[in-house]
Amino acid sequence: MIQRLDTGFDPKVEGRDIIVTRLDSAVDWVRKNSCWPMPMGLACCAIELMAVGASRFDIARFGAEVMRFSPRQSDLMIVAGTCVYKMAGVVKRVWDQMPNPKWCIAMGACASSGGMYRSYAVVQGVDHFLPVDVYISGCPPRPEALLEGLMAIQRKIAQEKAIENMKKGDGPGLSAPVHGPIIVRGEYAPKLKAK
Ligand code: SF4
Repeated sequence: MIQRLDTGFDPKVEGRDIIVTRLDSAVDWVRKNSCWPMPMGLACCAIELMAVGASRFDIARFGAEVMRFSPRQSDLMIVAGTCVYKMAGVVKRVWDQMPNPKWCIAMGACASSGGMYRSYAVVQGVDHFLPVDVYISGCPPRPEALLEGLMAIQRKIAQEKAIENMKKGDGPGLSAPVHGPIIVRGEYAPKLKAK
């Protein structure tokens, strides 16, 4: 006999330190809150990326403070700055060395589109050679915008069917990744209260 289980909030159960959820949701929740960024700081935008790691903006609040400088240990590449053709091969090689599943943020006008550098030497957007998930506009974008971009990546991860994909043998999030670029307005800044 199949017994139906109610999965909504039940004070009789929850009150005894038990949480009822789907395994997919629990795995996705863990994955989305443990991104390990690969900081690819190429120019001035990297200063804003560093600011995100400092105490005022504190990327640790989103579980992504473990900046790895080894591609083998990273799953989120943040390209921050102008990418020249000479550097593009290096960026691509680092990306290829990162294990799946992985995500990419193009931070700032230069990484997203070449920015003001309409030049033979500058790649007109890193999406020419990387599968960018989130674009952040601005020159440079504010640190809050990068956090907004990170949250967009987290929303993508939360929608993936990790367990279903693992059963298919593809590993979490691989066979049905949620693709489609997201654009974050980089000039976003919180309004300061007048004293
Ligand atoms: Fe520098 Fe602006 Fe380009 Fe960022 S977008 S790397 S701040 S010129």
